[in-house]
Amino acid sequence: MTEPTITPMVKSEGVHKYFGRLEVLKGIDLEVMPGEVMCVIGPSGSGKSTFLRCINHLEKLTAGKLWVDGELVGYRQKGDKLHELRDNEVAAKRREIGMVFQRFNLFPHMTVCENVMEAPIQVKGVAKAKARERALALLERVGLADKPKAYPRELSGGQQQRVAIARALAMDPKLMLFDEPTSALDPELVGEVLAVMRQLAEDGMTMVVVTHEMGFAKEVGDSLVFMDGGVVVEQGSPRDVISNPQHERTKAFLGKVL
Ligand code: ADP
Ligand code: MG
Repeated sequence: MTEPTITPMVKSEGVHKYFGRLEVLKGIDLEVMPGEVMCVIGPSGSGKSTFLRCINHLEKLTAGKLWVDGELVGYRQKGDKLHELRDNEVAAKRREIGMVFQRFNLFPHMTVCENVMEAPIQVKGVAKAKARERALALLERVGLADKPKAYPRELSGGQQQRVAIARALAMDPKLMLFDEPTSALDPELVGEVLAVMRQLAEDGMTMVVVTHEMGFAKEVGDSLVFMDGGVVVEQGSPRDVISNPQHERTKAFLGKVL
């Protein structure tokens, strides 16, 4: 009998991305297995956000292949031919992935609860009462059970970011992407957001997290990737990479963030 093979949640093979003549991703090879938390670190401009945006269908690859849950990003296979996805097909794929940004981008004119209910109602056609029930459960999960009626402007940055996480979870994503989710927060608010992310990881969510919170990477991450200049310089278990970096560039970077 052959071992059952597990399909990676994300598989990147030789991914290149150019913006005009600027080569931003220079051949990224990575795999994220279901349930894995991969943390990505690297200097500003190294291509971290661009890579997340490629996974989430927000950028078109220039070359290489990227799969999410076994399906090629951007294409549909028919026989041995590949067809580019139409806009509505791309939109459907994007719904399977939750993304949380540095800036929370909540709808300012809606309450916290309405922010979380919006996509399930508008995009999935979930009934309002059901969407509300689910939103309240998600708000409880992110520690905001007492805030459904508040407006975003009435919340701290950390609370707003937790609403943004609940809003992403409301679409039942199979993968969550975090792009420096705590970088815009006052230091005293970082912990409450990381605690929610840690709980999500413990519940088995597959996550790719761009972060410079090395404590989080070490304690929650299953793997750590160091990117620089559009390449993966080094990857491994967070403990190994942090305590025993193999490359000068990794050492220099860790020296600045640790
Ligand atoms: P990081 O997230 O690691 O800071 P980014 O992926 O945001 O890096 O950016 C990598 C490089 O790509 C930077 O030089 C940035 O200026 C450039 N870049 C990102 N997005 C665009 C774009 N839409 N058009 C042109 N250049 C871009
Ligand atoms: Mg970035």
